[in-house]
Amino acid sequence: MTASKPNYVSYNEIRAGVIARLDRVSDIAEDGEDEAVICVAREEVPALLAGTRALISLHRPDDQGRCRACRGGRWWRRRPVPCRPLLEFQLAVHTASTGRGRHHRR
Ligand SMILES: [Zn+2]
Repeated sequence: MTASKPNYVSYNEIRAGVIARLDRVSDIAEDGEDEAVICVAREEVPALLAGTRALISLHRPDDQGRCRACRGGRWWRRRPVPCRPLLEFQLAVHTASTGRGRHHRR
């Protein structure tokens, strides 16, 4: 069995596109005119939440309580749930919702 090769060009394009979209939505939500904020809330937020749900749904436990997405090699090395990406997501949401970390972007 051969592993597929990483495509860093696609990865970089996807990542940059998602980050640009998130930055645009964040800028409008934080500093935009009310009409623009309403448009973002109705059009962009549902799409971003759908993407978030899709990513989170990947990080669910298998029969042994280990994350299906965070397979770090052999079965005994798989991460137990909750895995680090899920915890990082929760921390980021908490930090943003409490006002700490505002304008902090990677
Ligand atoms: Zn995971």
